[in-house]
Amino acid sequence: MRMASRDEVMAALAKVAGPDGKTPLPDSGAVSGLTVRDGKVFLAIVVNPAEAKAMEPMRARAEAAIKAVPGVTGAVVTLTAEAARAVSGAAPGPGHAHGGGQAQRGGRAAQPIAGVKHIIAVASGKGGVGKSTVACNLAVGLAKLGLKIGVLDADLFGPSMPKLFGLSAKPDVAPDSQKLVPLEAYGVKVMSIGFLIDEGAPVVWRGPMVMSALTQLLREVAWGDLDVLVVDMPPGTGDTQLTMAQNVPLSGAVIVSTPQDLALIDARRGIAMFKQVQVPLLGIVENMSYFLCPHCGGRTEVFSHAGAQREAEKLGVPFLGEVPLDIAIRVNSDEGRPVVAYLADSAHAGAFLEIARRVAETLETGAPGAKPAPRIRFL
Ligand code: ADP
Repeated sequence: MRMASRDEVMAALAKVAGPDGKTPLPDSGAVSGLTVRDGKVFLAIVVNPAEAKAMEPMRARAEAAIKAVPGVTGAVVTLTAEAARAVSGAAPGPGHAHGGGQAQRGGRAAQPIAGVKHIIAVASGKGGVGKSTVACNLAVGLAKLGLKIGVLDADLFGPSMPKLFGLSAKPDVAPDSQKLVPLEAYGVKVMSIGFLIDEGAPVVWRGPMVMSALTQLLREVAWGDLDVLVVDMPPGTGDTQLTMAQNVPLSGAVIVSTPQDLALIDARRGIAMFKQVQVPLLGIVENMSYFLCPHCGGRTEVFSHAGAQREAEKLGVPFLGEVPLDIAIRVNSDEGRPVVAYLADSAHAGAFLEIARRVAETLETGAPGAKPAPRIRFL
């Protein structure tokens, strides 16, 4: 008798809505284990433990769909929850309005995205340190190195990629896949919530909405083949960031900091957050590191310079480089002209390119501390 294949099982599961009640199971990120052996199929679906009872009909539908596949002699579908990770402080219970419940389900959406080799987060402990500026120039720098690059603007609260890349069109929907087609500038594919909602529209994001919007931006976009997808995270280290860090299958994180001590304390929080969720740190970038005078070319150390470098050394995290504080960066960024492309011969462009080179190198050789497989507990 002909045995059922994995693909046939997945195709059958595509007709079953996942935990959110609409996304087909294979796309929901909830399928955590599928084994097909001698016509017997075992499948685990990761759900929020608090919703386990409500998920039972979905489990039964999945099981029935698999059993209906020709060549399947038996099917066992179980609901699982990832064992809660040791998140410092009281992790909010399931269903908490800030998405903290989802933070316990790190494996839920942390499945790789087909065609995307690496996803890296650019993060900062607080706002205004130039995180988005660095993310944009890092992405364009990586593209200049010949890599296929995308940028996902995950800063739903203050999307800045439309402005930084000078993009404002509404994305098309691909007729075949029904996925959003990212916009393109400077050789980089860009997707941002800013393309989809009107500027200034009062959007109040509640925890679960954040994750669902992020999942869509991540998975409902026709990224195509990418070497690196750069994710611009929202600033800070709250529940939302932690949930995102856990739910996006990250290869590593870049932390942006200014030299001031205060920012470094914030940066340390960012580092601690990624360590908690076992995402390797690709390194720290010191932005607004020193002032480069546009008139005389003189260099002034406005803040205690090299604080980030010292801090990186102390923490054993790679130091990726420093970017000067320069009006040209601000002015061109505001006009949608990333300096790494627009002022290609400038010292700033050199700094960003060097950072891009180091990130690419680390990704190639493997970031320190690869992510262990999540622990699964049966309900
Ligand atoms: P964040 O994403 O951390 O909130 P942004 O990237 O939006 O920060 O930067 C905040 C502001 O600082 C922007 O106006 C940006 O143009 C400016 N900026 C960022 N980096 C530099 C720099 N190295 N020199 C001058 N201005 C900068």
